[in-house]
Amino acid sequence: MSMIYLDHASATPLSKKAKAAMEPFFADDFFNPSAPYLPAKRVREAYENAKSEIAHTIGAKANDLVMTSGATEATNLAFSVLNASTRGPDALYRPSTPARLSARGAAGPLNAPPLVLVLETEHASVLRTAENYGAGKIKVKPGSGLIDLDNLKSKITKDTVLISVAAANNELGTIQPLAEIAEIIKSERQARLKNKNPRPLYLHSDASAALGLLNINVARMKTDLLTLSSAKIYGPKGVGALYVAHGVKLKPLISGGGQERNLRSGTENVPGAIGFAAAMKETKDHLNSAAKTFENLKTIFKNSLTDELNGEIEPVFLGPKKRQLANFCPVSFPGLDAERLVYKLEEKEVYLSTGAACAASKGEKSHVLKAAGLTDKEIAGSLRISFGRLNDEAKVKTAANLIADAVKEELERLKNA
Ligand code: PMP
Repeated sequence: MSMIYLDHASATPLSKKAKAAMEPFFADDFFNPSAPYLPAKRVREAYENAKSEIAHTIGAKANDLVMTSGATEATNLAFSVLNASTRGPDALYRPSTPARLSARGAAGPLNAPPLVLVLETEHASVLRTAENYGAGKIKVKPGSGLIDLDNLKSKITKDTVLISVAAANNELGTIQPLAEIAEIIKSERQARLKNKNPRPLYLHSDASAALGLLNINVARMKTDLLTLSSAKIYGPKGVGALYVAHGVKLKPLISGGGQERNLRSGTENVPGAIGFAAAMKETKDHLNSAAKTFENLKTIFKNSLTDELNGEIEPVFLGPKKRQLANFCPVSFPGLDAERLVYKLEEKEVYLSTGAACAASKGEKSHVLKAAGLTDKEIAGSLRISFGRLNDEAKVKTAANLIADAVKEELERLKNA
């Protein structure tokens, strides 16, 4: 039996088109894009075209993008907006006052409000980076994991500089209302203008999980900084980009030869950018049909699983009913140990994870499911299932059967224990 892969939120296979597009740039067109001779100039042109294509799919220009080694680096670079101005009275964040020394975990003097607000369900790449700056946390609503907009409003102060909310969550698939968040930010900016408060306020969003399913457009979403990743959209791993709106100043994390308009030095990853661009184009071309396909697979999966379990246990399908990425189907079997289920299913070549792969591998309880108000039993029994191009109706039905078998075996074991 061939494998059934249900973890597309964790990694996706490189698409044939992306692979073919990258191929020439490993050994044939290997030239350094900064070199002065003609073949190198051609490589430069191909690289810039790739950047233009990526930018175009999100409604931006090539110059608005900084190519990075993935989403983590892009997010770290985005947060450098906090120390882009480190001198003088305008300094936004003073590293000399470490966040950990502050009683409230806030940057700056004791009791100063945090300069950054992040959603409590963000991916570790956002949370850990934000913690370096003593971030405050925005609450989500129980069950759905949707942002609590009143909580956001109550936490914005005249000093807030950056707000970071993922376009969609990578465990529950919750799609956040970025346009509404942008409206709240707009009214705070207007208030600052009226009060002659020159402090900027930026919106950052990690679009890694959403990129393959939602129409991500920076103008519509009104984000100032947007993290993109190639690895979740059938492009190469280790490639990403940060969209930076005009006028937003960053402090480079990596210094050197001045590539990417001085914001990210180092010889460009030409095949990576070209693979990313091909994957983005393919993704964008099939956005609507992909959403329909996965909604259909999700319904089939839910029905098959519920039928197969035959009332022995009610699976709890997690996350919001409406505002959930079409390919996400997180589910919990309260009272069971999801890790045991994962190992059992692995023997049958069904691959899925419990919570986010990174958190789960450290044996930590998912902070996302906790924040969404799930009980310890629900968290311990939860699987993250994310569909993708490796799935079809037949595979999804087989997966539901095999998962139901594993669940029934576990129920039986517990009964006899
Ligand atoms: N954000 C989200 C939502 C993710 O799922 C991941 C990958 N697990 C990342 C960021 C980090 O991406 P990368 O590994 O490309 O740095």
